[in-house]
Amino acid sequence: MSSRRKFLHTSAAGLAGLAAAPLAAVALPAAPAVGKPIVISTWDAGVNANKGAWKILGPGGYALDAVEAGVMVTEAEQGCCVGLGGNPDRDGVVTLDACIMDEKFNCGGVAALERIKHPISVARRVMERTPHVLLVGEGAQQFAVAQGFPLEPRKLSADAEKAYKKWLETSQYKPVVNIENSKSRPNGPVGGPQNHDTIAMLAMDAQGRICGSCTTSGMAFKMRGRVGDSPLIGSGLFVDPAVGAAAATGQGEDVVRIAGAHTVVELMRQGRSPQAACQEAIGRIAAIKGVKAKDIQVAFIALNNQGQTGAYALQKGFNFTVSTTDTPVLRDSEFLLK
Ligand code: ASP
Repeated sequence: MSSRRKFLHTSAAGLAGLAAAPLAAVALPAAPAVGKPIVISTWDAGVNANKGAWKILGPGGYALDAVEAGVMVTEAEQGCCVGLGGNPDRDGVVTLDACIMDEKFNCGGVAALERIKHPISVARRVMERTPHVLLVGEGAQQFAVAQGFPLEPRKLSADAEKAYKKWLETSQYKPVVNIENSKSRPNGPVGGPQNHDTIAMLAMDAQGRICGSCTTSGMAFKMRGRVGDSPLIGSGLFVDPAVGAAAATGQGEDVVRIAGAHTVVELMRQGRSPQAACQEAIGRIAAIKGVKAKDIQVAFIALNNQGQTGAYALQKGFNFTVSTTDTPVLRDSEFLLK
């Protein structure tokens, strides 16, 4: 064999070996748990959202329909800053980000979408009716209108207007950690000062299909055009049917930095429990941020294909909601910075 042919031959064998090695070394979770639907979502907004999802999951419906319907409840509440009731950007405009992913790697998202009540449903249409995975800004709105979504008035909610006027007094961005948790809001369950809010939801249906959704008005008083982690598949949300799913909430920039949701899923693939995978991903963010970690909140939720759930946050104050029946259970998350 000529030395060139020999090189090609051995390289190909080497590459094949490389490709095979990680697969052989990794113990993938066993076959999906079938027959036991479960849904997990971020924050206490998840209590109502999970009830919405359970109406579909309980009677044996599809996880994708459940994660869409579930977060639509929060989008429609318009009080907790997901959806059009959210705080605006610096120019006073509410811009929404969302994404959705099914059990077959189909996914879709919208970013910087204005005047549409249910960005999660537009994200699903992007997934199902376009060859793309992400539409942004004007194009996303054009698509939504063409799909029959009504254009809502360009108007801030009373709470958002109040918060925006207050913010204009200084025009400084100072996040309030855990503002997504309604108990942490200085003005009670709705309103409150500038921050960011997200509902993310992961569900497994009775057939073992795992799907996820994520929707947000993003960081309040963000720069015009700013997009966070929430509409980005792999950052705000990721689903791999062979392993499970994960989603994020909190400071989007720091989730994107480690491709957060994908990282959590990959850690589960390597054998971590959902809880341990979330914890390790949070540990990476903390290591990157150093002393600045105390100024932000980031949290992950995860669900594996055995129906086990987990969550972990950087700071105290993150809670999440799990349902295995029609009664959601709100839990406080473990956290890193004690
Ligand atoms: N992750 C969202 C963003 O950065 C906001 C949040 O969850 O607080 O846009």
